[in-house]
Amino acid sequence: MGGAGFPTRVKIEPNPQMRKDILIVNGCECEPYITCDYRLMLERGDQIIAGVKLARRASGCSRVFVGIEDNKPEAIEAISAAISRSRHSDGIRVVPVKTKYPQGGERQLVKAILNRNVPTGGIPPMIGVVVLNVATAAAIAEAVLADLPLTHRVVTVTGEAIAKPGNYNVAIGTSVGRLIEFCGGVTQKSAKVVLGGPMMGIAVADLETPVTKTTNAITVLTKEQIGRAKFARRQTPCIRCGRCLAACPENLSPTKIAHAVKSNLLDVAESYYINACTECGCCSYVCPAKIELTGYIKTGKIFLARQKKMIPQ
Ligand code: SF4
Ligand code: SF4
Repeated sequence: MGGAGFPTRVKIEPNPQMRKDILIVNGCECEPYITCDYRLMLERGDQIIAGVKLARRASGCSRVFVGIEDNKPEAIEAISAAISRSRHSDGIRVVPVKTKYPQGGERQLVKAILNRNVPTGGIPPMIGVVVLNVATAAAIAEAVLADLPLTHRVVTVTGEAIAKPGNYNVAIGTSVGRLIEFCGGVTQKSAKVVLGGPMMGIAVADLETPVTKTTNAITVLTKEQIGRAKFARRQTPCIRCGRCLAACPENLSPTKIAHAVKSNLLDVAESYYINACTECGCCSYVCPAKIELTGYIKTGKIFLARQKKMIPQ
């Protein structure tokens, strides 16, 4: 139930080629504004730990770390208390990690907790690590212990233009429009509805779009937030300041990749590891020239996948 929606079975089943030893449970929110995992940790700590124990057993991991950002002391306390209450929970430890974006990315969390690097373009099992979201752990407990299918998930409905922001337990399949209506509708300042958070979210073209098991948030942004305000600055040429390089958590060169995509040199973009980009949006956010680097990189990834026939034309 994390943002990427990778199948849990594939993550946790034993694989002789990639032996897993450490299970990291991700209690860090993906993006600013989102608090669904935080609420889940406060309200369903016992269920999360029950799911963590099942995942540990299935994956064969000997050590478990629950990573929670240090600006959430109540969640750290709630999960620590759930671990102490639970039987056979030895080896499960809460690790407070620094609050920063994108700490919720699995590669960043592995680095923060274990000080180990996941290879560029690789996945955590390559270094013996499995990363599961807290919501996934709770869903595992519900499926295995209560024999219930996955019908609901907690969604953060947020943004400066939403009337009644909050976390809601939403039936999968509910339309975005119905959910916004339930939250009191939008204010006059609303300009864009985004599935996800303000950094990585995708704009919704149709309010009939349904909530899925990976919809962690719906964010309603204002004109000022999306840069459409009357006096918002326009894009200007790159001044080679290097801020995008310094901001990239994957140590990529966003400006070079974006330039290669603009010039339609997809093989060059690939040689700069375009596919290792996690689309976190940090490069675009810090760029003083307001260049939509992440947009170019996302487009380049799609073109490259089409070229390799991984997705239909
Ligand atoms: S979006 Fe930009 S900063 Fe984030 S991983 Fe991709 S290139 Fe790096
Ligand atoms: S942050 Fe913007 S202006 Fe600076 S090097 Fe990167 S693309 Fe160029």
